[in-house]
Amino acid sequence: MTSVADDLRALVRTIPDFPKPGIQFRDITTLMLDRSGLSRAVDALADTVDGPIDLVAAIEARGFAIGGALAVKLGAGLLLIRKDGKLPGKTIAEDYALEYGTDRLAMHVDACTPDARVLVVDDLLATGGTALAAVRLVRRAGGNVVGARFLIDLPELGGGDALVAAGVDARSLLAYE
Ligand code: AMP
Repeated sequence: MTSVADDLRALVRTIPDFPKPGIQFRDITTLMLDRSGLSRAVDALADTVDGPIDLVAAIEARGFAIGGALAVKLGAGLLLIRKDGKLPGKTIAEDYALEYGTDRLAMHVDACTPDARVLVVDDLLATGGTALAAVRLVRRAGGNVVGARFLIDLPELGGGDALVAAGVDARSLLAYE
């Protein structure tokens, strides 16, 4: 009998040299197309969560799909963390480093009630720059980040260690070298 992790791994497609040479892109769209795979992934992520969650803070764009489903499963609300300039209301923003240059994430300033228990969710953790920017946003808004969850971790890139150093309980379903 195969494990949930083995079954999920078989549904992730790897596309070499996307979006640029040398990157092994871990494509979860194939997992999301599979009705059993999608629900098993969301169930497995929910099993890693202890205690009540008020808000799932999902990171644009693939984090929206996984985070939205997980929020329903956990009985939580959904807080959208978007690329800067996309949200219509008053926002706060955080910059984070990319390999070349920086990018900026934003959230509505009033999206998070004080001391809300917030779970940050994205599809994949690499260096952790994106997830840490999301953590800083939620904390600035007064939220209590109780953890971060990902389908996939690339441990060699150090994102898990960076999140733990920031006091965040970070967990993923699959690790790729
Ligand atoms: P990082 O900020 O370095 O942790 O990068 C994580 C973000 O970039 C996530 O939103 C991922 O969707 C995306 N990402 C980074 N590397 C990959 C990869 N090898 N395959 C798929 N997505 C990736």
